[in-house]
Amino acid sequence: MHEWALAEAVISTALKISKKENFKGISKIKIRMGELQQIDIEIFEFALKEIIQPQKPILRKAKIELETERAILKCRVCGHKWAFGDAIKKLNEEESESIHFVPEIAHVYIRCPKCKSPDFEVVRGRGVWIDSIEGR
Ligand SMILES: [Zn+2]
Repeated sequence: MHEWALAEAVISTALKISKKENFKGISKIKIRMGELQQIDIEIFEFALKEIIQPQKPILRKAKIELETERAILKCRVCGHKWAFGDAIKKLNEEESESIHFVPEIAHVYIRCPKCKSPDFEVVRGRGVWIDSIEGR
């Protein structure tokens, strides 16, 4: 039920912002999520709609936009940065599957393309956040 909790948090944040901005109605909520955030987008969108629907006239016309942010990895040894998406392409299906389920396991299969160190961090591509809210 991770997706539902996230959807609740997004909507309550959106409501707080619109109150601050004195919006009578929200027209658009743009949500960004990291590539490594393990959420089921279909469930997440469904949860958002279910939470928006009842008794919230302010959100009735809100359009939800979901965007995925590419994950970026950074080597702790040489400072080189590279895209998680490119690293995953070089792996076989089984390896990329296991990373999808347990991102921490990435360190077993992914090495810095420059110095071959397995010591890297995720500098972008985690979390779910509101990018922008439009309304009036
Ligand atoms: Zn390196």
